[in-house]
Amino acid sequence: MLVTGGTVVTMNAERRIIEDGAVAVDGDAIVAVGSRANIEAKYAAAQTIIAKGKLVLPGFINGHTHVPMTLLRGLRDDVTLDEWLRKYIFPAEAKNVTEEFVRWGTRLAAAEQMRGGVTTFADMYYFEDAVAEETKAAGMRGVLGETILDFPAPDNKSNAAMLEYTEKFLKRWQGDALIHIHAAVAPHSIYTCSQKTLQESAELARKYSAPILIHVAEMKKELDDSRAQNGTTPVQYLDKLRILGPDTVAAHCIYVDDTDRKILAQRNVGCVHNPSSNMMLASGVAPVIEERAAGVAVGLGTDGPAGSNNDLDLMEEMDLAAKLQKITRMDPQALGAKAVVEMATIEGARALHMEKEIGSLESREESGLDSHRPGRAKRCADVRYLCAIGVRVEGKRRGDGDHRRPRGDARQEIADSG
Ligand SMILES: [Zn+2]
Repeated sequence: MLVTGGTVVTMNAERRIIEDGAVAVDGDAIVAVGSRANIEAKYAAAQTIIAKGKLVLPGFINGHTHVPMTLLRGLRDDVTLDEWLRKYIFPAEAKNVTEEFVRWGTRLAAAEQMRGGVTTFADMYYFEDAVAEETKAAGMRGVLGETILDFPAPDNKSNAAMLEYTEKFLKRWQGDALIHIHAAVAPHSIYTCSQKTLQESAELARKYSAPILIHVAEMKKELDDSRAQNGTTPVQYLDKLRILGPDTVAAHCIYVDDTDRKILAQRNVGCVHNPSSNMMLASGVAPVIEERAAGVAVGLGTDGPAGSNNDLDLMEEMDLAAKLQKITRMDPQALGAKAVVEMATIEGARALHMEKEIGSLESREESGLDSHRPGRAKRCADVRYLCAIGVRVEGKRRGDGDHRRPRGDARQEIADSG
């Protein structure tokens, strides 16, 4: 398949942008990216998508969310995180969340995310096995973590049951990693999990080489309580427990000092910034610029689409991430367009430790990957989808004009690409 005539924003190491560019795809891998003239001269394809007047971008990566919460949208706004969690969300989940609920919520979230150009997301919820099935059926890619905490959850009522469910979940999805599902373990946070729960969760994840998804330093209360109870910051406490590593994805990372940032970088932890959520709950402003400067991979996320955000729109998160840093520093150059597109694509991939597979448009030779390891080639579903929906170009807004029919086709193509 060829995608031709668009402005190809590769997000490769040089951040190359090709006007009137083209992408050649063979099977499920990108084989060449270049000017339209060069690619058309070299490759013939059964299918060509004309992307003239459109941006061709890598699929966006939603690095932190709780997708089934689409069905809880509008439950309660205008409260603090602590109040929202304990008074509203946890009780509502205990009452309403079933496997069927999770399936429908995931289906809706998949449709919304595809419409917004998201091709990969990292999720933390309950009945995560059902989230995985629906994610795979939708043709999306997910890093999906079964939530573990110290009180009864909608799916499992004890720690032992949670760990047992999670182990089964990890076993089931092992080997599916390259295309669709990376099964993960998601100890919720240091304020809902004991030291023992955190360590058992990490141990289980490492037994199966699975990622660990966790909320870290997401509110001032968490920092204050950690200082009082653990004598140190949330990051340093987690480091002491050996939770942090190149398999860890830490959502939020708002209350992280200089030492914390060095630890996150040294341990190769991926961080995910959620500006809508942090602003809506008045949780604080993550030091994104300092984190990036320390060498930490910082991605972008929407957080759950209820209470802490009301949508799954990565374009909005890019917009807000830039504006939040600008106004906080009173500096319009604080975090620019290039930086936030990086966070939604290649840096988001790095935060999920998946930058060899996704996050940029480049062939395996261009990305310096070994051509004898086809599984490591950049995946092409991202290209198929994004070129077809067309994000804002030449004064056109998403929702305008001719994107409707191609979007339906693209969804089918993603499903067909297996
Ligand atoms: Zn969250």
